[in-house]
Amino acid sequence: MLGKLAGWATKVSESTFHLHRFNIGPRLTLGFLFIVLALLMGNAVSLWQFHLARTQADRLNGVDQELITVLQAHTSLMSFYERLDAFTHSENTGQLVREVEALRNAILQESRRSRDALSRLPAGVQLDPALLPTLLSIEDTLPAELEAITALAQSNEWDAVRLRLANQVRPLESRSSELVENIDREVGEQRAQAVLNIEQAQRRILLILSVTAALTLLFAAFLGSAITRSITQPLGRLMEGSTAWARGDFSHRVPGAGKDEIARLGSVFNDMIVRLQELYRELQRREAYLTEAQRLSHTGSWAWNLLTQRVFWSAETFQIFGVDPNTTTPTMESFLESVHPDDRTTIALVDTEVRHGNDAKYDFRIVLPDHSIKYITSVAHPIRNDSGQVIEFVGTVMDVTERKRAEEERERLRQVQADLAHLSRITTMGELTASLAHEIRQPITAALTNAKTSLRWLDRDTPELEEARAATSRMIRDVTRAADIISRISLLFKKGGSQGELVDVNELIREMIVLLRSEANRYSISIRTELAQHLPNARADRVQLQQVFMNLMLNGIDAMKGTTNGGELTIKSEACDAQLLISVSDTGVGFPPEQADQIFSAFFTTKDSGTGMGLPISRSIIESHGGRLWAVGASGRGATFQFTLPATVAAHA
Ligand code: ADP
Repeated sequence: MLGKLAGWATKVSESTFHLHRFNIGPRLTLGFLFIVLALLMGNAVSLWQFHLARTQADRLNGVDQELITVLQAHTSLMSFYERLDAFTHSENTGQLVREVEALRNAILQESRRSRDALSRLPAGVQLDPALLPTLLSIEDTLPAELEAITALAQSNEWDAVRLRLANQVRPLESRSSELVENIDREVGEQRAQAVLNIEQAQRRILLILSVTAALTLLFAAFLGSAITRSITQPLGRLMEGSTAWARGDFSHRVPGAGKDEIARLGSVFNDMIVRLQELYRELQRREAYLTEAQRLSHTGSWAWNLLTQRVFWSAETFQIFGVDPNTTTPTMESFLESVHPDDRTTIALVDTEVRHGNDAKYDFRIVLPDHSIKYITSVAHPIRNDSGQVIEFVGTVMDVTERKRAEEERERLRQVQADLAHLSRITTMGELTASLAHEIRQPITAALTNAKTSLRWLDRDTPELEEARAATSRMIRDVTRAADIISRISLLFKKGGSQGELVDVNELIREMIVLLRSEANRYSISIRTELAQHLPNARADRVQLQQVFMNLMLNGIDAMKGTTNGGELTIKSEACDAQLLISVSDTGVGFPPEQADQIFSAFFTTKDSGTGMGLPISRSIIESHGGRLWAVGASGRGATFQFTLPATVAAHA
């Protein structure tokens, strides 16, 4: 029943009244106004019924008054008659004359008082039509009768008095008695009627009160339910929306109905959620960029709150530590556990530093769950509260494993390159050995000849000491030359060398020419120099620089080997802009200009027994000294190789 009523109330509230068009305040006021009006109407009807009952009571009272008035009038008439009758029996004229005035006044006064009382009776009281005329006729008749009786008594005509009393006064008393009877009957009827009416009014009041109370209750229930539903339904939709948004479902919208506060709140919520959704998307986009940037740079971020002990790791940090963000909650303990045991002391030291409020950068290794090792560079920055207390740390972890490996690889490559350079030198020297053997053999043969000559001069009967000394001196010169050549060759075979010594480049060029001269001579190649005077020294690795010269000069010789009329190798040195500029030019086969860069590529060679490593090694040596090496060539017209080296301040004397 109540459910039906509520359903009906909903239907009515939605279809008829459209309560949600009104604001909640006016809606409630309207509801209460209706309830108060219903109560007032019930009360008005009850009051009307009370009024009716009251009228009946007044009427009852009125008829009683009428009866009392009539009874009083009748009583005074009876008393008047009895007194007169008593005087008549006693035939006491004196007393009659004395009291006649008082009797007349009493009866007249009583009659007037009765009329007066009757005139004040409530309007609803219907007077007996004979009542007033009777009273008036008593008032009119009695004084005259009294005068006549008094006159008769004074003349002692008591029979006449008795007769007059019986014929004139007695009928008045009878009429009054009759009236009393009539009125008594009427009053009885009217009272019965009034009582009936009052009972009816009572029943009606009871009925009206209960009907009014029931109707008011129904009305209040209906209005209350309709108003409550008109508020709770949209509120429920609002709550639904809030729950959906709390779940992260930003596509949910509060359905708009009506124009009340809740409807407006709903539309404000919808607008807000659209804005929130945009912000959320923007945030997601930025986070995606950040995550991508972190992924690309192998850099994760982290935060550690000292108060809550909560640790935040970005997706890349999880990735670096090789753990699943869905199953692992990072803590400081788990972090420390993953640090390589040998590096935990470093972490502890840096940790103390950071707790003092300083920024810190530290390198350590971590051991992943699969036991692999990663190299990490981390930066930590303390965050302080308003009172300057450190409450949180934020920082980054960068996976530098690849860089570390690349460095190791580079170091290994550098080693390989050095080994290769050494190998290349040895190979070159192997080729040179034959020609150098000739070069060395010559001073040694000369020394042998001079030794023999010296012996001959000494073996004479008279030894020619001067000649022998001269021969021995020549021998010493020859041997010294041979030793010179040998020591230079051994320098070339030496692996590594002193770094950064001051080198006189002109002198180095001359040494190299001594070494390579016989190789050049074999192919009728002349070597020419244009060396600058007062050339500043260069800080360089002497052996490496020798290697560069040897590569360039041998390449020049190689390029000129095939030419018919020999060729010329020119070596120039000059100083310009705090740099040394060295050129090695030949008149050989040259190379196409488009190959100018290609010839510096490792393993590029046009020779049957070439390694293609001479030029790249030379370039890397020059570049490691802070200089530059390049080539200018033209097919069939020779080639020029030039390189620069930074000059030292102190010029060569
Ligand atoms: P390799 O001498 O073992 O071939 P290099 O790196 O020294 O290795 O030289 C690479 C190539 O550059 C040579 O094979 C040659 O084709 C070219 N080249 C080098 N120097 C000259 C030069 N002076 N004239 C012409 N070509 C040259």
